[in-house]
Amino acid sequence: MGDVVRTTCPYCGVGCGVIARRSADGSVEIKGDPDHPANFGRLCSKGSALAETISLEGRALEPTITGKSAEWDDALDRVANAFSTAIAEHGPDSVALYVSGQLLTEDYYVANKLMKGFIGSANIDTNSRLCMSSSVAGHVRAFGSDTVPGTYEDLEDADLVVLTGSNLAWCHPVLYQRIAAAKERRGSAMNIVVIDPRRTATCDIADTHLAIRPDSDVPLFLGLLAYLGNAGAVDCDYVARHTSGFPAALDAARSWSRSAVAMRTGLTSAEVEAFYALFTRTAKTVTCYSQGVNQSSVGTDKVNAIINCHLATGRIGRPGMGPFSLTGQPNAMGGREVGGLANMLAAHMSLDKPQDRDRVQRFWNAPRVADRPGLKAVDLFEAVASGRIKALWIMSTNPVVSMPDADRVREAITACPFVVVSDLFATTETARLADVFLPATGWGEKNGTVTNSERRISRQRAFLPVPGQARPDWWQLAEVGRRMGFATAFSYESPADIFAEHAALSTFENDGARDFDIGAYAGVDAEAYAAMTPFSWPRPADGEGNARFFSEGGFYTADRKARFVDVTSALAAKPLGKGAFTLNTGRVRDQWHTMTRTGRSATLSAHLAEPFVEIHPSDASENGISPAGLVRVSGEKGDVILRALVTNRQARGSLFVPMHWSGEFSGHARVDALVPPVVDPVSGQPASKQSRATIRCF
Ligand code: SF4
Repeated sequence: MGDVVRTTCPYCGVGCGVIARRSADGSVEIKGDPDHPANFGRLCSKGSALAETISLEGRALEPTITGKSAEWDDALDRVANAFSTAIAEHGPDSVALYVSGQLLTEDYYVANKLMKGFIGSANIDTNSRLCMSSSVAGHVRAFGSDTVPGTYEDLEDADLVVLTGSNLAWCHPVLYQRIAAAKERRGSAMNIVVIDPRRTATCDIADTHLAIRPDSDVPLFLGLLAYLGNAGAVDCDYVARHTSGFPAALDAARSWSRSAVAMRTGLTSAEVEAFYALFTRTAKTVTCYSQGVNQSSVGTDKVNAIINCHLATGRIGRPGMGPFSLTGQPNAMGGREVGGLANMLAAHMSLDKPQDRDRVQRFWNAPRVADRPGLKAVDLFEAVASGRIKALWIMSTNPVVSMPDADRVREAITACPFVVVSDLFATTETARLADVFLPATGWGEKNGTVTNSERRISRQRAFLPVPGQARPDWWQLAEVGRRMGFATAFSYESPADIFAEHAALSTFENDGARDFDIGAYAGVDAEAYAAMTPFSWPRPADGEGNARFFSEGGFYTADRKARFVDVTSALAAKPLGKGAFTLNTGRVRDQWHTMTRTGRSATLSAHLAEPFVEIHPSDASENGISPAGLVRVSGEKGDVILRALVTNRQARGSLFVPMHWSGEFSGHARVDALVPPVVDPVSGQPASKQSRATIRCF
């Protein structure tokens, strides 16, 4: 029979439950957990292939200092000394952490406590900045808090599901399967509209595909707001009681007539009219969005343009209704809960509010708390490049491949006086640049929690022996914290200790003014932590908490009203220039991030074996490009050699290149080396889907 453990998948933000069975001979069988409310037993191709990705081949099993084997004590002393020396000589802002949505909440909590509370700098950012920070910023602008109002059930109960900037079929496959099953069951009672410049696999279940021009979502949703106003579809009672700023937002939107929207989006007026009429007459509507919305220089405005339409109609927090941000990574949400971004504080408190800083400092009994936001990812690596950061710790992510302007990021890390990398593999493009490398435990070897896109907290559980001298990230951070002189604050014995403290902070002096409250788990003991079953927050100490937020208002602004946000700035379409294309980067179905794990599965690699560039047949023909021919794609920052995938799924004038491949797996295909470091000014999220590129035969 073997040991059976209930855990969760380490890939996307759907957060599927997994049953892992390890036999006496060491073999591992993976199945979907039929009792987990995210997936009810389903798994996608990546989740199903997890057993193929856990071999120890290539794993780093011991710490190294400048590439040579080292004892843990020596490596940790070296890290603590380097950080302490930099802080003593140059101040707290001369050090930085760059962490990951792959970390478990307990890892994230300790990293943030160390940086923001004890080092006293907020220079800790995460690859989640590249994933969903525009959603966070949009939520905070509208709701006063980073709150996802609804649940996955809403996506099945809605009569209209609008998927904008989301290739759900490939990027959140089990959620796609749930919607597809609901559509199959409910037939014409359920409408699905996909808004995407590309005809992606998600369009297979769509009643309507609106192939808008890249980055024209804001005009589309502004026009919708104006249409709702003209059609008398505004929920005047909800707007009056629970929101502010509606008249100004509606006035600003009114310049977007259907014909103006059609001209800007590239849709026909009939398509625009049909979508607007459908949205107007369908009360039970959910609008889901993902990286096509977030990864834009106007990403936050896109989020608020969508939220504005839901606030205007009062379609929020009720069954089958609401805006819904689909989180990319397995624990981007859990990271947010502990203040994982450079501009946040733990337990959904704000670095900008003195009372929040004071509360967290008292709870942690910390010598200080950072008093201003730290550097966001792009700015953080720019500070490394300029020499302002003297010591940098990178955990569980590979920015030399995944950051925009990746070559400059590599140069910056190479030149940094002291770099620590914690990872499973010492061979990643980033780990090779480390002065000190710390071997981390991976999926199946470590314990902790993650939070999925619907605010559901689930356990990840170990079922494999810890290999070699690998250690959990939280342990590494706590050991360095102790060596820096903070022994009491970092005396954790287990992830259960950390979760108990995290839950206690969520409820500490929380009189209902903060959304994140899991006080029911404050001080949870090891036994209860081991037995924890998936639950959605809020879970306060005195009750179950509501499944949804905001149906009766209760927003987390000073007056408890939601804000309509003016999103009419920066609407002009940017001309590409002769011969240029819009370059869109993104995921494919069977790979994950920079392939350090999925690249090891033969099954997953069989789906798409090599990197490619998708191009429309007419564009290929005009540029003398043959199907499967090799081409050079050149951007502002560099070029890559790829195979041409000529397909009418791709809109004319644009290219799509997967983000995954790098030198280790394919030679010269690191697409983020092309992408300039343009960011959304509000969220700091890079615009990874709208850079400029040219293409020619190689
Ligand atoms: Fe894992 Fe996401 Fe697939 Fe679920 S949908 S099995 S969480 S990759």
